[in-house]
Amino acid sequence: MYDLIIIGGGASGLLTAALASGENMNVLVLERNNQPGKKIYATGNGHCNYLNTKAEGFRTIDRELESVGIVGVCDEDGRYYPRSREASSVVSALISAAESKGVQILCDCHVTDVIKRDGHFTVVTKDGRKFESILLVIATGGKAGIQFGCYGEGYKWAQLFGHSLVKPVPALVPVECEEDISLLHGVRVRGKVSLYCNEEKICEDAGEIQFTKDSISGICVMNLSRNIRLGENREYILSIDLFPELTEDELLDLFLHQKQVLGCGMAGLVPEKMHAYLHSRKGEDAHGPSVMTGLAKDLRFKLKGTKGWADAQVTSGGVPLSEIDEKTMESKIVEGLYFTGEIVDYDGPCGGYNLANAWRMAILAAKEIKDLSR
Ligand SMILES: Cc1cc2nc3c(=O)[nH]c(=O)nc-3n(C[C@H](O)[C@H](O)[C@H](O)COP(=O)(O)OP(=O)(O)OC[C@H]3O[C@@H](n4cnc5c(N)ncnc54)[C@H](O)[C@@H]3O)c2cc1C
Repeated sequence: MYDLIIIGGGASGLLTAALASGENMNVLVLERNNQPGKKIYATGNGHCNYLNTKAEGFRTIDRELESVGIVGVCDEDGRYYPRSREASSVVSALISAAESKGVQILCDCHVTDVIKRDGHFTVVTKDGRKFESILLVIATGGKAGIQFGCYGEGYKWAQLFGHSLVKPVPALVPVECEEDISLLHGVRVRGKVSLYCNEEKICEDAGEIQFTKDSISGICVMNLSRNIRLGENREYILSIDLFPELTEDELLDLFLHQKQVLGCGMAGLVPEKMHAYLHSRKGEDAHGPSVMTGLAKDLRFKLKGTKGWADAQVTSGGVPLSEIDEKTMESKIVEGLYFTGEIVDYDGPCGGYNLANAWRMAILAAKEIKDLSR
Protein backbone atom coordinates (compact mmCIF):
# COMPACT_ATOMS: atom_id res chain seq x y z
CA MET A 1 0.00 0.00 0.00
CA TYR A 2 1.51 3.30 -1.08
CA ASP A 3 0.54 6.60 0.48
CA LEU A 4 0.43 8.18 -2.94
CA ILE A 5 0.36 6.88 -6.50
CA ILE A 6 0.89 9.31 -9.36
CA ILE A 7 -0.20 8.14 -12.80
CA GLY A 8 1.98 9.87 -15.40
CA GLY A 9 5.67 10.67 -15.11
CA GLY A 10 5.52 13.87 -17.13
CA ALA A 11 6.10 17.44 -16.02
CA SER A 12 3.36 17.70 -13.40
CA GLY A 13 3.61 14.10 -12.19
CA LEU A 14 7.36 14.25 -11.60
CA LEU A 15 7.22 17.60 -9.79
CA THR A 16 4.32 16.45 -7.62
CA ALA A 17 6.34 13.37 -6.70
CA ALA A 18 9.50 15.34 -5.93
CA LEU A 19 7.69 17.85 -3.73
CA ALA A 20 5.19 15.56 -1.98
CA SER A 21 7.47 12.69 -1.02
CA GLY A 22 9.06 12.53 2.39
CA GLU A 23 9.33 10.58 5.58
CA ASN A 24 5.62 9.90 5.97
CA MET A 25 4.76 9.74 2.32
CA ASN A 26 5.92 6.85 0.16
CA VAL A 27 5.25 7.68 -3.45
CA LEU A 28 5.01 5.60 -6.62
CA VAL A 29 5.00 7.08 -10.13
CA LEU A 30 3.63 4.92 -12.94
CA GLU A 31 4.72 5.93 -16.45
CA ARG A 32 3.64 4.19 -19.63
CA ASN A 33 6.70 5.20 -21.67
CA ASN A 34 10.09 3.54 -21.30
CA GLN A 35 11.41 6.74 -19.69
CA PRO A 36 9.84 9.59 -17.70
CA GLY A 37 9.41 13.12 -19.05
CA LYS A 38 9.57 12.15 -22.72
CA LYS A 39 7.50 15.13 -23.86
CA ILE A 40 9.64 17.60 -21.91
CA TYR A 41 12.62 16.75 -24.15
CA ALA A 42 10.65 18.09 -27.15
CA THR A 43 9.54 21.34 -25.52
CA GLY A 44 10.86 24.67 -26.74
CA ASN A 45 12.52 22.88 -29.67
CA GLY A 46 14.63 20.90 -27.23
CA HIS A 47 15.49 23.95 -25.09
CA CYS A 48 12.39 23.73 -22.84
CA ASN A 49 10.75 27.09 -22.36
CA TYR A 50 9.56 26.06 -18.92
CA LEU A 51 8.18 29.26 -17.41
CA ASN A 52 7.25 32.87 -18.12
CA THR A 53 7.51 35.83 -15.79
CA LYS A 54 3.88 36.66 -16.65
CA ALA A 55 2.60 33.17 -15.78
CA GLU A 56 0.18 32.79 -12.88
CA GLY A 57 2.14 32.01 -9.70
CA PHE A 58 5.47 32.79 -11.35
CA ARG A 59 7.45 33.52 -8.14
CA THR A 60 6.33 30.41 -6.30
CA ILE A 61 6.94 28.22 -9.35
CA ASP A 62 10.41 29.66 -9.88
CA ARG A 63 11.30 29.11 -6.20
CA GLU A 64 10.00 25.53 -6.13
CA LEU A 65 11.74 24.64 -9.40
CA GLU A 66 15.00 26.03 -8.04
CA SER A 67 14.50 23.86 -4.97
CA VAL A 68 14.64 20.78 -7.22
CA GLY A 69 17.66 22.08 -9.13
CA ILE A 70 16.05 23.72 -12.16
CA VAL A 71 17.89 27.00 -12.65
CA GLY A 72 16.87 29.21 -15.52
CA VAL A 73 17.76 32.18 -17.65
CA CYS A 74 15.14 34.61 -18.81
CA ASP A 75 14.99 36.12 -22.31
CA GLU A 76 13.79 39.62 -23.18
CA ASP A 77 10.19 38.39 -23.49
CA GLY A 78 10.11 36.87 -20.01
CA ARG A 79 10.52 33.29 -21.23
CA TYR A 80 12.53 31.01 -18.96
CA TYR A 81 14.89 28.30 -20.22
CA PRO A 82 17.25 26.08 -18.25
CA ARG A 83 20.69 27.67 -17.90
CA SER A 84 22.09 24.79 -19.98
CA ARG A 85 19.50 25.50 -22.72
CA GLU A 86 18.90 21.75 -22.72
CA ALA A 87 15.50 20.27 -21.92
CA SER A 88 17.27 17.16 -20.66
CA SER A 89 18.52 19.18 -17.64
CA VAL A 90 14.94 19.74 -16.57
CA VAL A 91 14.06 16.05 -16.85
CA SER A 92 17.24 14.95 -15.02
CA ALA A 93 16.64 17.42 -12.21
CA LEU A 94 13.06 16.26 -11.71
CA ILE A 95 14.01 12.58 -11.70
CA SER A 96 16.98 13.12 -9.36
CA ALA A 97 14.93 15.23 -6.96
CA ALA A 98 12.18 12.61 -6.84
CA GLU A 99 14.41 9.56 -6.55
CA SER A 100 16.68 11.12 -3.95
CA LYS A 101 13.61 11.48 -1.75
CA GLY A 102 12.71 7.83 -2.18
CA VAL A 103 10.12 8.10 -4.94
CA GLN A 104 9.82 4.90 -6.97
CA ILE A 105 9.37 5.54 -10.69
CA LEU A 106 8.17 2.56 -12.72
CA CYS A 107 8.41 2.93 -16.49
CA ASP A 108 6.76 0.73 -19.15
CA CYS A 109 3.82 0.73 -16.78
CA HIS A 110 0.68 1.39 -18.80
CA VAL A 111 -2.23 2.03 -16.44
CA THR A 112 -5.53 0.80 -17.83
CA ASP A 113 -7.92 0.90 -14.86
CA VAL A 114 -8.38 2.85 -11.67
CA ILE A 115 -10.97 2.19 -8.98
CA LYS A 116 -11.66 3.40 -5.48
CA ARG A 117 -13.01 0.87 -2.99
CA ASP A 118 -13.03 0.70 0.82
CA GLY A 119 -11.29 4.06 1.10
CA HIS A 120 -8.32 3.31 -1.12
CA PHE A 121 -7.40 3.33 -4.79
CA THR A 122 -6.44 0.31 -6.88
CA VAL A 123 -4.50 1.00 -10.05
CA VAL A 124 -4.26 -1.77 -12.66
CA THR A 125 -1.70 -1.92 -15.47
CA LYS A 126 -1.98 -3.47 -18.92
CA ASP A 127 0.23 -6.39 -17.92
CA GLY A 128 -2.04 -7.20 -14.99
CA ARG A 129 -0.07 -5.64 -12.10
CA LYS A 130 -2.05 -4.02 -9.30
CA PHE A 131 -0.92 -1.19 -7.04
CA GLU A 132 -2.81 0.30 -4.12
CA SER A 133 -2.71 3.70 -2.49
CA ILE A 134 -4.51 6.02 -0.13
CA LEU A 135 -4.14 9.07 -2.38
CA LEU A 136 -4.08 9.23 -6.16
CA VAL A 137 -2.87 11.92 -8.57
CA ILE A 138 -3.92 11.64 -12.21
CA ALA A 139 -1.25 13.49 -14.19
CA THR A 140 -1.63 11.79 -17.54
CA GLY A 141 -1.70 15.01 -19.59
CA GLY A 142 -4.12 15.57 -22.44
CA LYS A 143 -3.98 14.25 -25.99
CA ALA A 144 -1.56 16.75 -27.49
CA GLY A 145 1.71 15.29 -28.72
CA ILE A 146 0.18 11.83 -28.94
CA GLN A 147 3.59 10.48 -30.01
CA PHE A 148 4.86 11.12 -26.47
CA GLY A 149 2.41 8.66 -24.89
CA CYS A 150 -0.59 10.91 -24.29
CA TYR A 151 -3.84 9.35 -25.44
CA GLY A 152 -6.20 11.07 -23.03
CA GLU A 153 -6.77 7.97 -20.92
CA GLY A 154 -7.07 10.04 -17.77
CA TYR A 155 -10.32 11.53 -19.09
CA LYS A 156 -11.97 8.10 -19.00
CA TRP A 157 -11.11 7.59 -15.31
CA ALA A 158 -12.19 11.13 -14.42
CA GLN A 159 -15.58 10.41 -15.99
CA LEU A 160 -15.86 7.04 -14.22
CA PHE A 161 -15.28 8.92 -10.95
CA GLY A 162 -18.24 11.16 -11.83
CA HIS A 163 -16.47 14.14 -13.39
CA SER A 164 -17.69 15.81 -16.54
CA LEU A 165 -15.45 16.66 -19.46
CA VAL A 166 -15.01 19.82 -21.52
CA LYS A 167 -14.48 18.38 -25.00
CA PRO A 168 -10.70 18.21 -25.57
CA VAL A 169 -9.53 19.79 -28.84
CA PRO A 170 -6.01 20.29 -30.24
CA ALA A 171 -4.62 23.76 -29.43
CA LEU A 172 -1.38 25.62 -30.19
CA VAL A 173 -1.62 23.84 -33.51
CA PRO A 174 -1.25 24.82 -37.19
CA VAL A 175 -4.51 25.66 -38.98
CA GLU A 176 -5.77 24.35 -42.32
CA CYS A 177 -7.68 26.42 -44.85
CA GLU A 178 -10.00 25.84 -47.80
CA GLU A 179 -7.83 27.86 -50.22
CA ASP A 180 -5.01 26.21 -52.14
CA ILE A 181 -1.86 27.63 -50.50
CA SER A 182 0.66 25.28 -52.09
CA LEU A 183 2.22 28.32 -53.81
CA LEU A 184 3.18 29.64 -50.36
CA HIS A 185 5.00 26.52 -49.19
CA GLY A 186 8.06 27.54 -47.17
CA VAL A 187 7.15 31.24 -46.92
CA ARG A 188 7.74 33.06 -43.61
CA VAL A 189 6.45 36.58 -43.16
CA ARG A 190 5.83 38.87 -40.21
CA GLY A 191 2.38 40.33 -39.73
CA LYS A 192 -0.75 40.65 -37.68
CA VAL A 193 -3.27 37.81 -37.60
CA SER A 194 -6.94 38.13 -36.68
CA LEU A 195 -9.42 35.33 -36.14
CA TYR A 196 -13.07 35.87 -37.07
CA CYS A 197 -15.93 33.59 -36.06
CA ASN A 198 -19.07 34.21 -38.13
CA GLU A 199 -17.69 37.59 -39.24
CA GLU A 200 -16.97 38.73 -35.68
CA LYS A 201 -13.34 39.30 -34.71
CA ILE A 202 -12.61 37.17 -31.63
CA CYS A 203 -8.85 37.58 -31.18
CA GLU A 204 -5.66 38.83 -32.77
CA ASP A 205 -1.92 38.42 -32.38
CA ALA A 206 1.23 39.36 -34.25
CA GLY A 207 4.53 37.77 -35.17
CA GLU A 208 6.03 35.41 -37.70
CA ILE A 209 3.59 33.51 -39.90
CA GLN A 210 4.75 30.30 -41.57
CA PHE A 211 3.21 28.49 -44.51
CA THR A 212 3.46 24.88 -45.61
CA LYS A 213 1.68 23.48 -48.64
CA ASP A 214 -1.42 22.79 -46.55
CA SER A 215 -1.20 24.65 -43.25
CA ILE A 216 -0.48 28.00 -41.63
CA SER A 217 1.43 28.25 -38.36
CA GLY A 218 3.87 30.39 -36.43
CA ILE A 219 3.48 31.24 -32.75
CA CYS A 220 0.86 33.95 -33.36
CA VAL A 221 -1.33 31.64 -35.47
CA MET A 222 -0.90 28.77 -33.00
CA ASN A 223 -2.02 31.10 -30.20
CA LEU A 224 -5.20 31.95 -32.11
CA SER A 225 -5.88 28.24 -32.71
CA ARG A 226 -6.83 27.91 -29.02
CA ASN A 227 -10.07 29.72 -29.85
CA ILE A 228 -11.24 27.48 -32.68
CA ARG A 229 -14.25 25.29 -31.84
CA LEU A 230 -15.49 23.95 -35.12
CA GLY A 231 -19.11 22.94 -35.12
CA GLU A 232 -22.40 23.57 -36.72
CA ASN A 233 -22.97 27.12 -37.97
CA ARG A 234 -19.49 28.31 -37.04
CA GLU A 235 -17.31 29.69 -39.79
CA TYR A 236 -13.76 30.79 -39.00
CA ILE A 237 -11.71 33.18 -41.08
CA LEU A 238 -8.02 33.92 -40.53
CA SER A 239 -7.09 37.37 -41.77
CA ILE A 240 -3.45 38.34 -42.23
CA ASP A 241 -2.24 41.94 -42.32
CA LEU A 242 1.16 41.81 -44.00
CA PHE A 243 1.78 45.51 -43.21
CA PRO A 244 0.44 46.17 -39.70
CA GLU A 245 2.79 49.13 -39.30
CA LEU A 246 1.15 50.99 -42.22
CA THR A 247 -2.36 52.30 -42.84
CA GLU A 248 -3.98 51.37 -46.17
CA ASP A 249 -3.20 54.83 -47.53
CA GLU A 250 0.45 54.64 -46.45
CA LEU A 251 0.78 51.21 -48.04
CA LEU A 252 -0.79 52.50 -51.25
CA ASP A 253 1.75 55.36 -51.36
CA LEU A 254 4.60 52.92 -50.82
CA PHE A 255 3.19 50.57 -53.45
CA LEU A 256 2.96 53.38 -56.02
CA HIS A 257 6.50 54.49 -55.19
CA GLN A 258 7.89 50.96 -55.70
CA LYS A 259 5.94 50.67 -58.92
CA GLN A 260 7.40 53.90 -60.22
CA VAL A 261 10.97 53.05 -59.23
CA LEU A 262 11.04 49.30 -59.84
CA GLY A 263 8.07 48.77 -62.12
CA CYS A 264 6.34 46.53 -59.61
CA GLY A 265 4.39 47.72 -56.56
CA MET A 266 5.19 44.82 -54.22
CA ALA A 267 8.83 44.49 -55.30
CA GLY A 268 11.05 44.10 -52.27
CA LEU A 269 8.11 44.38 -49.86
CA VAL A 270 7.00 40.74 -49.59
CA PRO A 271 8.72 37.44 -50.49
CA GLU A 272 8.47 36.49 -54.19
CA LYS A 273 6.15 33.56 -53.47
CA MET A 274 3.81 35.79 -51.50
CA HIS A 275 3.83 38.29 -54.34
CA ALA A 276 2.83 35.53 -56.78
CA TYR A 277 0.14 34.32 -54.40
CA LEU A 278 -1.34 37.81 -53.97
CA HIS A 279 -1.52 38.06 -57.75
CA SER A 280 -3.29 34.71 -57.93
CA ARG A 281 -5.80 35.87 -55.31
CA LYS A 282 -6.57 39.34 -56.69
CA GLY A 283 -8.42 37.99 -59.71
CA GLU A 284 -7.91 38.61 -63.44
CA ASP A 285 -10.23 41.60 -63.61
CA ALA A 286 -8.97 43.45 -60.54
CA HIS A 287 -6.20 45.69 -61.80
CA GLY A 288 -6.14 48.73 -59.51
CA PRO A 289 -3.22 49.03 -57.04
CA SER A 290 -5.68 49.38 -54.19
CA VAL A 291 -6.90 45.82 -54.83
CA MET A 292 -3.40 44.49 -54.21
CA THR A 293 -2.77 46.66 -51.14
CA GLY A 294 -6.23 45.85 -49.79
CA LEU A 295 -5.41 42.14 -50.09
CA ALA A 296 -2.04 42.63 -48.40
CA LYS A 297 -3.77 44.34 -45.46
CA ASP A 298 -6.55 41.76 -45.17
CA LEU A 299 -5.52 38.44 -46.72
CA ARG A 300 -8.33 36.09 -45.74
CA PHE A 301 -8.32 32.33 -45.40
CA LYS A 302 -11.43 30.30 -44.68
CA LEU A 303 -10.47 27.73 -42.07
CA LYS A 304 -11.57 24.15 -42.42
CA GLY A 305 -9.93 23.09 -39.18
CA THR A 306 -6.65 22.53 -37.42
CA LYS A 307 -3.97 19.88 -37.68
CA GLY A 308 -4.44 16.91 -35.34
CA TRP A 309 -3.09 15.78 -31.98
CA ALA A 310 0.37 14.88 -33.27
CA ASP A 311 0.94 18.52 -34.29
CA ALA A 312 -0.69 20.12 -31.25
CA GLN A 313 1.37 21.44 -28.35
CA VAL A 314 -1.44 21.48 -25.86
CA THR A 315 -5.00 20.32 -25.22
CA SER A 316 -7.81 22.79 -24.77
CA GLY A 317 -10.56 21.21 -22.67
CA GLY A 318 -10.43 18.45 -20.07
CA VAL A 319 -11.61 18.05 -16.48
CA PRO A 320 -13.42 21.30 -15.56
CA LEU A 321 -11.72 23.44 -12.92
CA SER A 322 -15.15 24.01 -11.35
CA GLU A 323 -15.10 20.35 -10.22
CA ILE A 324 -11.65 20.68 -8.62
CA ASP A 325 -10.59 22.59 -5.50
CA GLU A 326 -8.37 25.20 -7.13
CA LYS A 327 -6.27 25.63 -3.97
CA THR A 328 -5.36 21.94 -3.64
CA MET A 329 -6.23 20.36 -7.02
CA GLU A 330 -8.29 17.76 -5.15
CA SER A 331 -11.44 16.50 -6.84
CA LYS A 332 -14.60 17.95 -5.35
CA ILE A 333 -16.27 14.61 -6.11
CA VAL A 334 -13.83 11.95 -4.87
CA GLU A 335 -11.82 12.46 -1.68
CA GLY A 336 -8.10 11.76 -2.04
CA LEU A 337 -8.15 12.09 -5.84
CA TYR A 338 -6.13 14.91 -7.46
CA PHE A 339 -5.71 16.16 -11.02
CA THR A 340 -2.63 18.08 -12.13
CA GLY A 341 -1.39 19.44 -15.45
CA GLU A 342 -2.84 19.35 -18.91
CA ILE A 343 -5.64 16.93 -18.01
CA VAL A 344 -7.35 19.92 -16.38
CA ASP A 345 -9.32 22.29 -18.62
CA TYR A 346 -6.84 25.14 -18.37
CA ASP A 347 -4.46 25.97 -21.21
CA GLY A 348 -2.32 28.95 -22.08
CA PRO A 349 -0.54 30.52 -25.06
CA CYS A 350 2.96 29.70 -26.30
CA GLY A 351 5.79 31.10 -24.16
CA GLY A 352 6.17 28.74 -21.20
CA TYR A 353 2.61 29.11 -19.90
CA ASN A 354 1.59 25.47 -20.29
CA LEU A 355 4.51 23.99 -18.40
CA ALA A 356 3.91 26.77 -15.87
CA ASN A 357 0.34 25.47 -15.45
CA ALA A 358 1.64 21.93 -14.98
CA TRP A 359 4.17 23.07 -12.34
CA ARG A 360 1.68 25.34 -10.54
CA MET A 361 -0.90 22.59 -10.16
CA ALA A 362 1.78 20.11 -9.08
CA ILE A 363 2.97 22.53 -6.37
CA LEU A 364 -0.57 23.03 -5.06
CA ALA A 365 -1.33 19.31 -4.95
CA ALA A 366 2.04 18.43 -3.40
CA LYS A 367 1.65 21.05 -0.67
CA GLU A 368 -1.77 19.71 0.28
CA ILE A 369 -0.59 16.09 0.21
CA LYS A 370 2.47 16.93 2.30
CA ASP A 371 0.28 18.76 4.83
CA LEU A 372 -1.94 15.67 5.07
CA SER A 373 1.05 13.49 5.93
CA ARG A 374 2.03 15.67 8.92
C1 LIG B 1 6.19 19.57 -29.19
C2 LIG B 1 5.74 20.26 -27.92
C3 LIG B 1 6.43 21.39 -27.49
C4 LIG B 1 6.02 22.06 -26.32
N1 LIG B 1 6.73 23.12 -25.90
C5 LIG B 1 6.38 23.77 -24.76
C6 LIG B 1 7.16 24.83 -24.24
O1 LIG B 1 8.23 25.18 -24.76
N2 LIG B 1 6.71 25.46 -23.12
C7 LIG B 1 5.56 25.08 -22.47
O2 LIG B 1 5.20 25.69 -21.46
N3 LIG B 1 4.83 24.03 -22.91
C8 LIG B 1 5.22 23.35 -24.02
N4 LIG B 1 4.49 22.27 -24.45
C9 LIG B 1 3.32 21.84 -23.63
C10 LIG B 1 3.80 21.06 -22.38
O3 LIG B 1 4.78 20.13 -22.75
C11 LIG B 1 2.63 20.33 -21.71
O4 LIG B 1 1.57 21.22 -21.48
C12 LIG B 1 3.08 19.71 -20.38
O5 LIG B 1 4.09 18.76 -20.62
C13 LIG B 1 1.92 19.06 -19.66
O6 LIG B 1 2.41 18.40 -18.53
P1 LIG B 1 1.61 17.16 -17.91
O7 LIG B 1 2.43 16.64 -16.81
O8 LIG B 1 0.22 17.55 -17.64
O9 LIG B 1 1.53 16.12 -19.10
P2 LIG B 1 2.70 15.38 -19.87
O10 LIG B 1 3.96 16.12 -19.76
O11 LIG B 1 2.13 15.12 -21.21
O12 LIG B 1 2.88 14.01 -19.07
C14 LIG B 1 1.88 13.03 -19.00
C15 LIG B 1 2.57 11.70 -18.78
O13 LIG B 1 1.58 10.71 -18.47
C16 LIG B 1 1.95 9.52 -19.12
N5 LIG B 1 0.75 8.70 -19.28
C17 LIG B 1 -0.33 8.99 -20.03
N6 LIG B 1 -1.24 8.01 -19.96
C18 LIG B 1 -0.72 7.08 -19.12
C19 LIG B 1 -1.18 5.81 -18.66
N7 LIG B 1 -2.35 5.31 -19.04
N8 LIG B 1 -0.38 5.10 -17.81
C20 LIG B 1 0.82 5.59 -17.41
N9 LIG B 1 1.31 6.78 -17.83
C21 LIG B 1 0.55 7.52 -18.68
C22 LIG B 1 2.53 9.98 -20.45
O14 LIG B 1 3.33 8.99 -21.03
C23 LIG B 1 3.31 11.21 -20.02
O15 LIG B 1 4.64 10.92 -19.70
C24 LIG B 1 4.89 21.59 -25.60
C25 LIG B 1 4.20 20.44 -26.03
C26 LIG B 1 4.63 19.78 -27.18
C27 LIG B 1 3.88 18.54 -27.63
